[in-house]
Amino acid sequence: METYDLIIIGAGAAGLSAGIYAARSGLKTVIIEEKLAGGTTADAPTVENYPGFATISGAELAEKMTAHCRKTGVVFRELETVTALNLQGEKKTVKTTHAEYEATAVVIATGSHYREIGAKGEKEFRGKGVSYCGVCDGPLFKGKNVMVVGGGNSAAITTLYLSGLAANVTLVHRREAFRCEEAYVKDVQTKQNVQIIWNTEIKEIKGDKVVNTVLIQDSKTGETREIPVNGVFVQVGEAPNSQTAKDSGIETDEHGYIKTDLYQRTNIPGVYAAGDVTNQPVKQVGTAVGQGITAALEAYGYIRRPYYRQQR
Ligand SMILES: Cc1cc2nc3c(=O)[nH]c(=O)nc-3n(C[C@H](O)[C@H](O)[C@H](O)COP(=O)(O)OP(=O)(O)OC[C@H]3O[C@@H](n4cnc5c(N)ncnc54)[C@H](O)[C@@H]3O)c2cc1C
Repeated sequence: METYDLIIIGAGAAGLSAGIYAARSGLKTVIIEEKLAGGTTADAPTVENYPGFATISGAELAEKMTAHCRKTGVVFRELETVTALNLQGEKKTVKTTHAEYEATAVVIATGSHYREIGAKGEKEFRGKGVSYCGVCDGPLFKGKNVMVVGGGNSAAITTLYLSGLAANVTLVHRREAFRCEEAYVKDVQTKQNVQIIWNTEIKEIKGDKVVNTVLIQDSKTGETREIPVNGVFVQVGEAPNSQTAKDSGIETDEHGYIKTDLYQRTNIPGVYAAGDVTNQPVKQVGTAVGQGITAALEAYGYIRRPYYRQQR
């Protein structure tokens, strides 16, 4: 069993920011990450709203955050998934696919995952034409025909990104208007190789070894038709990675997001949550960073100054 002051679960913007502040405060800190450090920021083709960087690729920003955090002396445990938590009592234990860790405080910064549409063939063709990340898989579809499913910011961003790579992009949305920032709507509408199909649902993703058509249905007329495409990018929102926390007694809202207060505290003393996994309303790199910082400084107060626990 490895012992630390603080265990941070998830090495995205929230976890890495928490790590920087924790290590600089002198806390012996470990970050456990099931993939490689960087988190979802790396999925953003371009980030243009993170102060200090007018334009930066998400991958570069994630890399810079990770390098900064490593420099502070935080211990990184990558490619290790947290599978169980015991958060009651003074010492919290965290079990992973590789080891067991113990600490006085824990920050949960596990982010969210892409939602599925639940269409027939979606699971079967995942990784064989069905993707949830434009920037990760878009280059594989250079000069090909792709479909994007969704109507929010992620769908618009993915459509814009793919329009620069693919021959044609068909954007399919089940409503008749976007739910995204106006600037994206204008950009999408001016792209010559983007076709938008409103009021339409995906009934089935079909193919042989890889995707070759999508069966769609107009929800007003009931009419169905098949669209030939090589790739389908599902962009219908996210759901929090909170099940393990929930199983250990952490309170969540009705959508599974971890409930936190202004100090990023959860319902269990010494356990904090930050970033996209929380029920805080804005899900951005900047807000994840801020919440990670608050969580780390609150954890510091909790660990180093026991009287602090009674103050709030
Ligand atoms: C396509 C796209 C474009 C975006 N563009 C922008 C933008 O331009 N500007 C902006 O501000 N925001 C943007 N965002 C949102 C932004 O990326 C997120 O709000 C932010 O990255 C959330 O950070 P986080 O640390 O909370 O979560 P994440 O970055 O998701 O990090 C969570 C980490 O926890 C890990 N994890 C999960 N479960 C476990 C487990 N059981 N064990 C161990 N590790 C685990 C995950 O692997 C992940 O690395 C974009 C998002 C997407 C998808």
